[in-house]
Amino acid sequence: MEKIVCKLVRGNYRKIFAKIKGGKVVVYANTKTPRKEIDDFLQKKKKDIAKVVERQKQKVSKANELEKQGKAYLFGREVLLPQKHKDRLKNVRELCKEYQPNLRSILFEMANRSKLKCDELVFGNAKTLWGTCYHVGYRYDKIRLNERLIMLPRDLIEYVCMHELTHTVHHNHSKDFWNELCKHMPDALERRKKLRNEYGWVLEFYR
Ligand SMILES: [Zn+2]
Repeated sequence: MEKIVCKLVRGNYRKIFAKIKGGKVVVYANTKTPRKEIDDFLQKKKKDIAKVVERQKQKVSKANELEKQGKAYLFGREVLLPQKHKDRLKNVRELCKEYQPNLRSILFEMANRSKLKCDELVFGNAKTLWGTCYHVGYRYDKIRLNERLIMLPRDLIEYVCMHELTHTVHHNHSKDFWNELCKHMPDALERRKKLRNEYGWVLEFYR
């Protein structure tokens, strides 16, 4: 197996842990932790770290490949991006905007089905969040969906909508929240896993 190249950050950490982003590994350890302990930690976690690094590298190269070909995603399938503007970011945003009504109808379909209500729906383009639910005043719930959701397969769009709708009842991620969510969508946790493992990069490409 390949040797793991990583950056070591020392600080006031209680235990050794690693973070992996964009295929790069950073290991955090206390200023007093002996080097040997860190090496042992890395040795023990080697397989897991390598797996994550490989997965992330694949995502980055997938995103680069799509950008190079001028392609994007629409409902989980590759599409050629309309090349109306010179600025590729503008093209992506325009595509997303065009499909906002589709996202809107999916959200309200889920709302009808679950009898949970959304008083206002707005769209955003955050880098880290698929959706947010705000509680404005007394029983007024506003949901913000990331416009990039239209790139995901329909079952994942539904998951994000149902997740945010559930927040109109449970404001945090308590056990009650997950129970309520799974009541409306029994396979919610599988969809969540798929979203995290396979589509996280959709928020980051074309930026
Ligand atoms: Zn949430």
